[in-house]
Amino acid sequence: MDKTTCIVVGAGPAGSACALSLARKGIDTVLLERGRTPGEKKVSSFVLLMTELRRLIPDWEKDLPVERNIIRTDQAIFNGTDIKMITSYNYDKLKNPVYFSAFRRKFDEWFAKKAKEAGAELITGMTVTDLIMDNGRVVGVKIDDEELYADIVVGADGYHTKVGEKAGLVTEWDPARARLAVKEVLDLPPEVINERFQLSDGQGCDMGIIPYHFGELSIRSSTLYTNKDSISLAVFAHLGELKEKNIKLHDELEKFKEHPFIHKFIKGATLREYQAHIIPHGGRVNPENLYGDGVLLCGEAGGTTDTASGMGVPTCMTAGLMAAETIALAVKKKDFSADTLKNYLKFLDSTSILDMIYESKKTSDYWVDKGKLERPDCMAAIADSYNQYWNADYMSKDYHPLFLNLYLRVGKFFAPKLIRMIVTPILKGYSFYEKTVEKIKRKIRRRFYEWKKQYDN
Ligand SMILES: Cc1cc2nc3c(=O)[nH]c(=O)nc-3n(C[C@H](O)[C@H](O)[C@H](O)COP(=O)(O)OP(=O)(O)OC[C@H]3O[C@@H](n4cnc5c(N)ncnc54)[C@H](O)[C@@H]3O)c2cc1C
Repeated sequence: MDKTTCIVVGAGPAGSACALSLARKGIDTVLLERGRTPGEKKVSSFVLLMTELRRLIPDWEKDLPVERNIIRTDQAIFNGTDIKMITSYNYDKLKNPVYFSAFRRKFDEWFAKKAKEAGAELITGMTVTDLIMDNGRVVGVKIDDEELYADIVVGADGYHTKVGEKAGLVTEWDPARARLAVKEVLDLPPEVINERFQLSDGQGCDMGIIPYHFGELSIRSSTLYTNKDSISLAVFAHLGELKEKNIKLHDELEKFKEHPFIHKFIKGATLREYQAHIIPHGGRVNPENLYGDGVLLCGEAGGTTDTASGMGVPTCMTAGLMAAETIALAVKKKDFSADTLKNYLKFLDSTSILDMIYESKKTSDYWVDKGKLERPDCMAAIADSYNQYWNADYMSKDYHPLFLNLYLRVGKFFAPKLIRMIVTPILKGYSFYEKTVEKIKRKIRRRFYEWKKQYDN
């Protein structure tokens, strides 16, 4: 009987992060992937936020396969006749990249290779078809007729999770809680891209487009960003609304492409790839259902995608890392029961992932209840998320403001004089800096909402 300590199903960002971390801890890990290579099955291009990855692979600059360093970000509020735009160039990002455009096929392969180099056994071309159960406990996986046993199985197998379903953890499939995305990658010569987006070689642009008064859909968003020699254009809409109104999203994409604002960026381009995919919309998996006897779910299988920003890769990686921490604890205790594995929630709670799951659930509940978002709320939510997500760091739970405020308001009076003399000015300086940044952000947001109001009228 083939047995290992841990089987991770799925070599996406969550699975590879988990396997990498487990291997670094010296825990026997098999990483199973159905694609012939990791990333083969994925929606081709994406924007890669660097915060988590930078920490995990400090020498990433050596070989991380990226397309362009995004130094220009645009937010376009869009209807049929009028477009308002905020454009921001940040040259600081040249030295200190915050995010890149990249291709999943190359990235997933690179990332899984890092897990393999760390000692995980990567097996590709293997689709897990079922789980092996013993008295309600997961003890392994089936790959058609083959069986592989483990102390613990991690479901990192994405939205349509077989592990989650077979373990009875994921039962809900509600179109109202999912978004559909269609995406095209359109080939254009690099110099044409540079000219149209006013960029130099290697620099990229990411444009968030928020359309309304355009077509029949009440909630939708779109993104357009630059790769080395191609442009990615994606449109997102609620599956429930598409179904209800019988709208085909690829028709919407075609309409969108014909609009002069979009057309001017993509004219003359040739289609390289077209793909459609579902994105979970929060509240799909209750945190209490992220673990069971001998099993954990992470990444999109567990619904750990940031609903507001759509950023899945960094949050899924963080969840994978926290799954690895939980498994290390279980290995130490030699206990893989749900009772030990529930510590997963504690590990997740040490990051911002649990808060994010609850927030996503709230947003999703709201959308499910209302059926749709009223425009101003929708705009406010999106504008807020855009303002914030460049700085998102899902690995850290930001307690500083609370600690800092408590100290400055109360603590300093009780601290010994020497400590007070040193610590108080430092914290006051830090607090002043934080407040100034917040003030600037608020100002930008206010301006944005004024534009929106003007636009609504
Ligand atoms: C159109 C679109 C655009 C997006 N853009 C971005 C973006 O720009 N930036 C961003 O951060 N996020 C983006 N996301 C979200 C992001 O893609 C996901 O959140 C992320 O891929 C989830 O990672 P994961 O590892 O949990 O799952 P996945 O990436 O889905 O990986 C799951 C892996 O498991 C494998 N697998 C599945 N079933 C089995 C099985 N039975 N046996 C073996 N292997 C299996 C799959 O082949 C796959 O490799 C986008 C999503 C979509 C749909």
